[in-house]
Amino acid sequence: MNVIAFDLDDTLLDTSSCLLPVATAESCQAMMGAGLQCSQDECQKKRKEIAQTDPRKSIFESLALALQPELSGNSQLLNNIVEAGKRAFYEREVNDPLVLCEGALEVLQECFNKYDLFLVSAGDRNTQNQKIDNLGIRNFFKDCLIADPKENMSKLECFQTILNIYPKLEPNQFLSVGNRLDTDIGHAKQLGWKTCYMKYGEYVNMTPVNDFEKPDFQIKGIHQLTKVCQL
Ligand SMILES: [Mg+2]
Repeated sequence: MNVIAFDLDDTLLDTSSCLLPVATAESCQAMMGAGLQCSQDECQKKRKEIAQTDPRKSIFESLALALQPELSGNSQLLNNIVEAGKRAFYEREVNDPLVLCEGALEVLQECFNKYDLFLVSAGDRNTQNQKIDNLGIRNFFKDCLIADPKENMSKLECFQTILNIYPKLEPNQFLSVGNRLDTDIGHAKQLGWKTCYMKYGEYVNMTPVNDFEKPDFQIKGIHQLTKVCQL
């Protein structure tokens, strides 16, 4: 192994504990403000249920339709509600100090001395950059690549960008570490990378739908990375 790409949310940063509750609450509030008829409690419960039972679905649309099925006949209102929910959830100001996952700092310090490290994170560019600086981890990485859906960027393109930096290395000398089977694992394996799946966060109930989504290694927490992957 020569190069490691880390995911950020729920891999290095404990997003599920520090950010998810307030982002979910504010996103539900925004959807209700845009016209979704439900209570805050109903919205939060249903979001959790959809993430657990159907993690591949577009969660904001599924949530709106589950709570108010008649929205399927009003695409303009549905779209307004979905966009309001997404904005409140993803485009956030990060003010309070954030917390790394247990052992993340030690893993970064250890790997920094042996490998070229990259951060590959999906989300709003401004918000993700605020998270990286809030955590003070930017200097561990050769580069931090943000796949911002508003720019039509996927993690596949980020992994390809990293590959192109090292024309002399074979794809299996690259390792992607992350908590989503579809992107952190699937997109990296499509390019021939090795992968380590950290089973943590909102998407733990996702199961592989093809061979690309079957990780080479699996860990419960980032502190297990070096041992399990023999780094
Ligand atoms: Mg993640």
